[in-house]
Amino acid sequence: MAEKRDYYEVLGVSKNATDDEIKKAYRKKAKECHPDLHPNDEEAVKHFAELNEANEVLSDPDKRARYDQFGFNDPMSGMGGGGNPFGGAGFDFGGMGGMGDIFDQLFNGGMGTRTRAQGPVRGNDLQYELRITFEEAAKGCEKSFEINRSELCDTCKGTGAKPGTKPSTCAACHGTGQIRSSAGWMTTVRTCPTCGGTGKVITDKCTGCGGSGRIRRKRTVKVKVPAGIDHGQTIIMNNQGEPGLRGGPNGDLYITVSVRPHKVFQRDGYNLLLEFPISFITAALGAEVDVPTLSGPVKFRIPEGTQPGTEFRIKGAGIQMLRGSGKGDLIMRVKVEIPKRLNNRQKELLREFEGTTSDKEYEGRKGFMDRVKDLFNG
Ligand SMILES: [Zn+2]
Ligand SMILES: [Zn+2]
Repeated sequence: MAEKRDYYEVLGVSKNATDDEIKKAYRKKAKECHPDLHPNDEEAVKHFAELNEANEVLSDPDKRARYDQFGFNDPMSGMGGGGNPFGGAGFDFGGMGGMGDIFDQLFNGGMGTRTRAQGPVRGNDLQYELRITFEEAAKGCEKSFEINRSELCDTCKGTGAKPGTKPSTCAACHGTGQIRSSAGWMTTVRTCPTCGGTGKVITDKCTGCGGSGRIRRKRTVKVKVPAGIDHGQTIIMNNQGEPGLRGGPNGDLYITVSVRPHKVFQRDGYNLLLEFPISFITAALGAEVDVPTLSGPVKFRIPEGTQPGTEFRIKGAGIQMLRGSGKGDLIMRVKVEIPKRLNNRQKELLREFEGTTSDKEYEGRKGFMDRVKDLFNG
């Protein structure tokens, strides 16, 4: 992947900048480096694109959260640079038209005041719940699954008109897509019901789609799930949603990951938690044990005199972090087990053992007995 500058750095704001700060920083920078002010300057064009890309991500709470989470290692290909920085309005711009549009908005300050009855509209986003195993989440995986989605009709390329024919101008609105009506001093504008705001009506309908311009398809989607993803996190596949209207961009596909619990491990952030039962003998004498990790068992020395509930940390045996190259730790909590059924011989041995001990060997009990003595003497 080409080296990219951090989006926060591009906008010159801190990681916890407010939406307002981001908006202001973007406007300021966009004015400075707008290509209209730097004709024939390739760098300015690149810089402006970089700026727009950063703004597109950071000004969108979802995308920003994902960027904070994944950085550029977003599992989805074609993200970031591939995204259209101008949103719906600029999708089909040729040359400077779209930029001029942004330019106007920047200098006149009137974001979003224009009506856009016939403008491109972004397609709907789709949702999918992807179930994966604990190991798949920890180590990353590639998955494919099927979704049903509507796509542009191949036969008519989404126009809805029979190939060779063209939609005709809507007579009701004369192609404007809007119906204006005046009542006294007030003029109301509404979307033309005849053409649905498109300004066009289809007389010869495409047989492939029945005139809707779209058909439902079953599609196999492949997704690369990054190592370290956790239950409930979302992967966004840009442009994999439903098609836009009138040249608008496709929606996105939101894949929410559902991770099945593990039989042995639990997860706490990037750390693995493991409850590890040992016998009271092992706790007392210490022993080398095999501790399971996600990459097979590792040897670990339980020290002599280990107390119940003691936590041992095995560095780097946890889960791969989504950002950066580190790994979490494995935290092993010792559960000391006391045997429940002993035969006579075993009991005898333990009694014999007990005869050799006093409170000295039991720190906690000794302290407790001393405190109890004070209680009655003091
Ligand atoms: Zn069609
Ligand atoms: Zn109409």
